Amino acid sequence: MENKKENFNEWYNEIVEISGLSDKRYPIKGMNVWLPYGLKAMQNIDGTIRKSVDSREFQEVSFPVLITRDQLSVEFEHVKGFENEVYWVTRGGMDQLDVEMALRPTSEAAMYGMFSLWVRSHADLPLRTYQIVNVYRYETKHTRTFIRIREIHFFEAHTAHDSYEDAERQMEQYLEIWKEISSELCLPYLVNERPEWDKFPGAMYTLAFDTVVPGGRSLQIGTIHEYGTNFSRNYDIKYLKDDGTHEYASQTTFGLSERLLAAVIALHGDDQGLIFPPGIAPVQIIVVPIPSKKVDTGIYASSIVKSLQEAGFRARIDQRENYTPGFKYNEWEMKGVPLRLEVGEKEVDDNFVTASPRTSRKKSKIPLSEIVTAVPQLLAEVKLELTKRSADQFKGLQNHIKKVEDIKKANGIVLAGWCGNKTCAEKIEETYEFGTLGFSRNHKESTKCVICDAEGRIGVFSKSY
Ligand code: ZN
Repeated sequence: MENKKENFNEWYNEIVEISGLSDKRYPIKGMNVWLPYGLKAMQNIDGTIRKSVDSREFQEVSFPVLITRDQLSVEFEHVKGFENEVYWVTRGGMDQLDVEMALRPTSEAAMYGMFSLWVRSHADLPLRTYQIVNVYRYETKHTRTFIRIREIHFFEAHTAHDSYEDAERQMEQYLEIWKEISSELCLPYLVNERPEWDKFPGAMYTLAFDTVVPGGRSLQIGTIHEYGTNFSRNYDIKYLKDDGTHEYASQTTFGLSERLLAAVIALHGDDQGLIFPPGIAPVQIIVVPIPSKKVDTGIYASSIVKSLQEAGFRARIDQRENYTPGFKYNEWEMKGVPLRLEVGEKEVDDNFVTASPRTSRKKSKIPLSEIVTAVPQLLAEVKLELTKRSADQFKGLQNHIKKVEDIKKANGIVLAGWCGNKTCAEKIEETYEFGTLGFSRNHKESTKCVICDAEGRIGVFSKSY
């Protein structure tokens, strides 16, 4: 396998392919086939997201994939932001359509016309919905599995509120929800306020969650947007106030995608392959019986798998013939299974199993009677270790610089004083090819701009995907 530190991009492409996550041989560039193992991982990530938003009383909806040009054009700025990236449906059968229809690039235009029908009075607010659907972007840049693609697996939450203050409270809650999700996935990140010129079209402001992959490029893994009344004015989402007047609703959105899976692959994997955080691993525990002439290790292993499954774990047995235990160990390590249990002759004779967590790969003996209590502890250790490792790695890829020339030596993202002006950001972009992620919300201190010396705050700059 490729060396992850030295050839990150090659390592990433290779592991995505050999671990059975995705097949990119489908004849449309940027539209890949989800293989069972990858799909299961994504569904588990979706499950984590659903759990988090459902517990806060968001309602799941599902809107049509087609949006008319008229619907999109209601918000001029919105359509302008996406115009070059939209797929258009222009024919139905042999008939030229009177109205061109877009494959949703995101769902504001699809949803907000309906919101205007649903929202009538105070009692209808807050309206908090989400959907997990595919969205489409006609991507012309180089595509990369789970990172830059044309058919995107997308979580989008859309809310409407009776005041800007309540919408701001929603923004705070998104940060809480994101904390839960990122913690389950063991992902470190910075919260960056995107600059004016890079915020979502139509938003008042955009906060992005950015992480860094070992190659040093940043990866945007989530965004939340405060819309204020920018969209509700155009889509006529208003409610009747007690005094008989109408008020436009304030709105927010939250977007996540399979980039979460990309980050899991990129941040946690090593030269042996993937490492899945236990909370989202398609297989949490793989049990490998070691063939023996004296005892039936298969039966013993099967009963262990059964008891683990009954206790709610995603456990599997590998009973394939014609493969050695060593081959199986390597394969499941490559596929990132957090915990392996080995069952040989000794284990059967003395009533124990040999456990090997994917992170430490240290072997330990677990008495059979303690297995259902020991396994969650071992999985918790894997999660803790992944959290620690990725946090350390993230720290190592952050460069605090005082002089702009030091960007040249930086590997990873750069944190530097910035006044907030586009001209200064452009100097950094042009001279060093580092894009502007915006002001860091994690660093509140004031400092001087490394370009113009004016008062500023900590800005974040990086090469990114
Ligand atoms: Zn400046």
